[in-house]
Amino acid sequence: MAWDFSTDPEFAAKLEWVRSFVDREILPLETIQFDVSDEEWAALTTPLKDKVRAEGLWACHLDPELGGQGYGQVKLALLHEILGRSPLAPPIFGNQAPDSGNAELLAIGGNEEQKQRWLRPLLDGRLRSAFSMTEPEVAGSDPTLIRTSAVLDGDEYVINGHKWFTSCGSTADFLVVMVVTNPDVHPYQGCSMIVVPTDTPGVDIVRDVPTMHHPHAHPGRREPAGHAEIRYRDVRVPTGNLIGRPGDGFVLAQKRLGPGRLHHAMRWIGQARRAFDMLCERALSRYSHGSLLAEKQMIQDFIAESLIDISTARLLCLNAAWTMDQVGSSKARTEIAMIKVYGTRMLFNVIDRAIQVHGALGYTTDLPLEEMYRAARASRLVDGADEVHKVTIARQVLKSYRAAAELPTEHVPTRRAAALERFAELVDVAALNS
Ligand SMILES: Cc1cc2nc3c(=O)[nH]c(=O)nc-3n(C[C@H](O)[C@H](O)[C@H](O)COP(=O)(O)OP(=O)(O)OC[C@H]3O[C@@H](n4cnc5c(N)ncnc54)[C@H](O)[C@@H]3O)c2cc1C
Repeated sequence: MAWDFSTDPEFAAKLEWVRSFVDREILPLETIQFDVSDEEWAALTTPLKDKVRAEGLWACHLDPELGGQGYGQVKLALLHEILGRSPLAPPIFGNQAPDSGNAELLAIGGNEEQKQRWLRPLLDGRLRSAFSMTEPEVAGSDPTLIRTSAVLDGDEYVINGHKWFTSCGSTADFLVVMVVTNPDVHPYQGCSMIVVPTDTPGVDIVRDVPTMHHPHAHPGRREPAGHAEIRYRDVRVPTGNLIGRPGDGFVLAQKRLGPGRLHHAMRWIGQARRAFDMLCERALSRYSHGSLLAEKQMIQDFIAESLIDISTARLLCLNAAWTMDQVGSSKARTEIAMIKVYGTRMLFNVIDRAIQVHGALGYTTDLPLEEMYRAARASRLVDGADEVHKVTIARQVLKSYRAAAELPTEHVPTRRAAALERFAELVDVAALNS
């Protein structure tokens, strides 16, 4: 029987290298990222990307023939946990959303020509991409409502529609757009994904939508990119830009989103751990009412609850990763949904406690906590609202239950009558019933 929580020593050494690299080389860049020019930024980050490549860790979520390591989800989960410490780490490791998901999508569904044209340059970091699915007019939680259409005209598709929250859309070279290609069938068979180069006539990047995380977002912002509102007006692309076959949109979306959700969740654990480290350091440093904060039971409660939350999320995440490795992402839907929901709650709670322990300082921009807190709020919406994931969990769970014929199965008088009948030869039934 295999039941093993250990990491093999070779991979553990790799993780140790990543941990030290993130802490020593990447975290310091956070404080200057918005003060340097694009050229200076490239000069700072290109050598770091080269070091990551030299370690064989660039875009390592992909299969070896695409330059990755073909790591399974468990290894990726452990890696993403460390990268999650800083939002700057994933781009330096070639696995930032949405590029990593789009690369996986093209790797799974793209033909050879599409791989040469978009996937290879994406992996080399020569192109940037975005995923354009959500529309402002209809509930993103129910993608069967998607309205953006792609109508066949000769050997071209003509796309019309309105999207928003296309993350990185304003800085992307191409957009992967979810469209209706056949309105006469159920959307599960009638939606498709099409690659649209951003400079195609008719693609109108209206704005980067300002958000709680980036209230002053503006188009063209380098890092982190904004969430673009885009109008597609008579946008013509060749039929060869369709990924997979017409009608494959939902199947591809499922394959793309499963691993992506898990990687997000593992990065949340890294973020939470960073907040937790800050919480503990402050508890040991701040003195009030005759003792350190660390000696107050209420603060000890914060520490214990936070560690329990992080450890629970970590186990849920690793279990989801392991399940995906065993049976694939669609059969691991419940496990992925559970960590998606629990991970967001855990992240928010841990950062909140860390802010509380820092008092007013925690509320200021002198610490990264306030930004982490604002960013964390999006996790309850991004990759699908928590409530929708709870629906998935409940639906999957209920498949293994049946309605009771009449009274509940556990109805005590009914069970007692059955027990008395069964053991009548061994017990004095009349005495027990009197
Ligand atoms: C930071 C960020 C980045 C994003 N990046 C992208 C991206 O790159 N590409 C992209 O296409 N989209 C992106 N999105 C959009 C995201 O996928 C949607 O916001 C999400 O799917 C929810 O859709 P909605 O916003 O239309 O909310 P709605 O669907 O209108 O839902 C609103 C609320 O209704 C409730 N609700 C909905 N359905 C149910 C239900 N069945 N049962 C119970 N309650 C329900 C939930 O509480 C939900 O929060 C991003 C969003 C954010 C916040």
